[in-house]
Amino acid sequence: MVYKIGVVRGDGIGPEVVEQALRVLSFIGNFEFVELGIGYTYMSRHGELYQRDFFDVARGLDAVLKGPLNTPWDRRDFRSLNYLIRRELDLYANVRPFKSYEGLSLGRFDFTIVRENLEDLYVGVEGEVGGVAVSVRFTSRQEAERVSRFAFEYARREGLEKVTLVHKANILKYTDGLLRETFFAVAKDYPDIRAEEVLVDTSAYKLVREPSSFRVILTPNLYGDILSDLAAALVGGLGLCGSAQIGPRTAVFEPVHGVAFDIAGKNLANPYGMLEATRLLLKYLGWSRGDSSLLKWSKALEGAIRRAVQEQGAVTPDLGGKYHTSEVGDAVLKNLSSEN
Ligand code: NAD
Repeated sequence: MVYKIGVVRGDGIGPEVVEQALRVLSFIGNFEFVELGIGYTYMSRHGELYQRDFFDVARGLDAVLKGPLNTPWDRRDFRSLNYLIRRELDLYANVRPFKSYEGLSLGRFDFTIVRENLEDLYVGVEGEVGGVAVSVRFTSRQEAERVSRFAFEYARREGLEKVTLVHKANILKYTDGLLRETFFAVAKDYPDIRAEEVLVDTSAYKLVREPSSFRVILTPNLYGDILSDLAAALVGGLGLCGSAQIGPRTAVFEPVHGVAFDIAGKNLANPYGMLEATRLLLKYLGWSRGDSSLLKWSKALEGAIRRAVQEQGAVTPDLGGKYHTSEVGDAVLKNLSSEN
């Protein structure tokens, strides 16, 4: 079986980190790469923000590997391309695993944040009326149910005993209230998994004080965005973490960090977040296509990454190391070939 993988090289450090992921997938084999153009770098060369058939092509692929894309803060007319990709490909669940590294992380933990990926304040219905700026927050029963079910299925598949809903339903009684009601209704279908809840402010405190108490966290879009960066800091840095955005037909895998223009083009970017996203891609294809060899490769890549970071100190300057981006790729590939 040959899997068709879309490749979005992205902006800033995107192309450098994506290259390391492609080296890993080429080493494993059985992948056909389809280049997909989108973003600022693409626009500077082609005069439009994305290729015309971008979404039609992407919908037909097994998965997409994606570098970060720039979203300018100062242009009201410019909607995020990341949000457009989520919306068009119906990527309703954003999955971000956070596992500690010895000697690098704050504490010992292994938990996953599942972030609702399509609604909340990110729908972008905003305006100004008589000097008052307003933003509309959305939670639909349909999305609340779909993402709750995803979180429980994920916990079951990974053998995890509980799912914690993080919300603020004591204040946001309609939006978070609906999510809460739906979450506990769905939980009834999963009697083998404990369903619990924590207020978002308390969860920030608990994530720092007792991160090992969490297994799977399910949370609305904005809280998930903020808590993921907090969790990345616990792991040791933004450059170490990856994410999977899952839809019914395809899925997109990317690092948690942004475009990091300050270090772009210098071979200094930390590629571990992208490699972690590659591990998640292998796992996703392994599960969704019933391909046990890809599940084995995903485990092997996890081992190769952990050995490189923890035992060999193969890290870039953001983590206090001297390795260049491509040298980290070399170290991980060497470990991967010795694991098999
Ligand atoms: P950023 O992640 O780009 O950078 C924050 C800091 O972290 C910078 O100092 C940067 O050098 C450092 N950093 C980030 N990733 C690194 C890596 N892999 N290796 C070494 N150092 C790294 O965040 P920002 O400055 O807040 O955002 C810049 C742009 O990126 C914005 O346009 C934002 O919208 C975009 N962004 C895109 C995505 C995405 O496409 N998924 C995610 C986050 C931010």
